[in-house]
Amino acid sequence: MSTEKLPARSENFSEWYNQVVLRAELADYAPVRGCMVIRPYGWALWENIQQALDRRFKETGHVNAAFPLFIPMSFLEKEKEHVEGFSPELAVVTVGGGETLEEPLVVRPTSETIIGYMYSKWIRSYRDLPVLINQWGNVVRWEMRTRLFLRTLEFYWQEGHTAHATEEEALEETLRMLNVYTDFAYNEAAVPVIPGRKSETEKFAGAVQSYTIEAMMGDTRALQAGTSHFLGQNFARAFDIQYLDRNNQLQYCWTTSWGLSTRFIGAIIMTHGDDQGLILPPRLAPIQIVIVPIYRSDSEQSQVMAVATQLHKQLSTRFRVKVDDRSEVTPGFKFNDWELRGVPLRIEIGPKDVEKGVLTVARRDIPGKAGKSVLHPDNLEAQFSQLLDDIHHSMLKRATQFRDEHIFDPKDYEELREVVQHGWAFSWWCGSADCEAKVKEDTKATTRCIPLEQPGGEGRCIVCGQRATQKVYFARAY
Ligand SMILES: [Zn+2]
Repeated sequence: MSTEKLPARSENFSEWYNQVVLRAELADYAPVRGCMVIRPYGWALWENIQQALDRRFKETGHVNAAFPLFIPMSFLEKEKEHVEGFSPELAVVTVGGGETLEEPLVVRPTSETIIGYMYSKWIRSYRDLPVLINQWGNVVRWEMRTRLFLRTLEFYWQEGHTAHATEEEALEETLRMLNVYTDFAYNEAAVPVIPGRKSETEKFAGAVQSYTIEAMMGDTRALQAGTSHFLGQNFARAFDIQYLDRNNQLQYCWTTSWGLSTRFIGAIIMTHGDDQGLILPPRLAPIQIVIVPIYRSDSEQSQVMAVATQLHKQLSTRFRVKVDDRSEVTPGFKFNDWELRGVPLRIEIGPKDVEKGVLTVARRDIPGKAGKSVLHPDNLEAQFSQLLDDIHHSMLKRATQFRDEHIFDPKDYEELREVVQHGWAFSWWCGSADCEAKVKEDTKATTRCIPLEQPGGEGRCIVCGQRATQKVYFARAY
């Protein structure tokens, strides 16, 4: 950990981001270009994300399993759009155990193909449906331009894969999981995402329809933070996933897939952080409360440490708490360090606090004196619980306000070109790929999503002026 100041977030957002990831010890660069090491603090954050999602997956009837890392090359070639979409990014193993392999193996970029193959063996009748399986794992995509957490050759994620008897059920599942992601983003991460449908151009390779949650980062760029795909019968036909219906007729299944990755950590950093570093949402923060003892003499030390230790014991039953008992650094250094790491609450305990029997508490989301309060020791758990809740809600409110202040409704194409330099445009769009391509060419902004919530009525496409029945977000994206 270095004491140097971080680059200002408002001046160099990109460098600020890199430095926060490295100095808060979330991740580090690996020796292979484009790969990263997720350090214990970053992994602890990921574990909390996993738990929050896994609980929701299980509540909606899903179970976990593990499928292999290697996929026969021929599997990917079975779904035409899928292989076209993924082939530029594939890592392929051609040698194993010193021998050239008969068939090259792909390191999974995603698992629709291998899971589809297994489902074709497991599913026989309508009684076997639906199949609702999720897997937690890692995948490899040979990306050219990489950024810690946002885009790396290897990343961790979950991928859900489900098979259903009817189109209606599969569509329902696709939207159910989009809602699970939306609920997670708002209620765990305090990230006000916008759920919607991807355009044909932006959808997943092999999907009929892709849905996404889109988040606005602190520099107003968009980040696709989770996706849910309705695959129709594309993979069922490619892999022969069939079942006998009630009338003993052979039918193809309808399938879905949905995923959220370690990229979401990037969304948390870039939604909430400030010039001091991370601000972690309390419900996901690896450490929710840090206790910093303050003393000058040995006698003060024993007095203060006794209180700190007792407090740690008491609060640990309900919260994730740490006592920073390092003696080689000053309290001021510790304050900066925990601010950088985004811990939501800091308790300062000095001899005066011990004498008065009170605690001084500082909120990470409100810097300086304004975020400090003095707590009396009765019913501490309830007070801390309330404080952490308040922090969650105020982080969500602040992020929502920022998002809404940077969404514009440009009156014409000229204005659209201008607003996407510093925000998102929410505009009528005729749905044509040509209009989308023109915006991208002129501004680098892409369609992010056609939100589920539409204003209704109709308008004129912001690009070509033709009749349009839907509004879309245009933004530059990560
Ligand atoms: Zn148009």
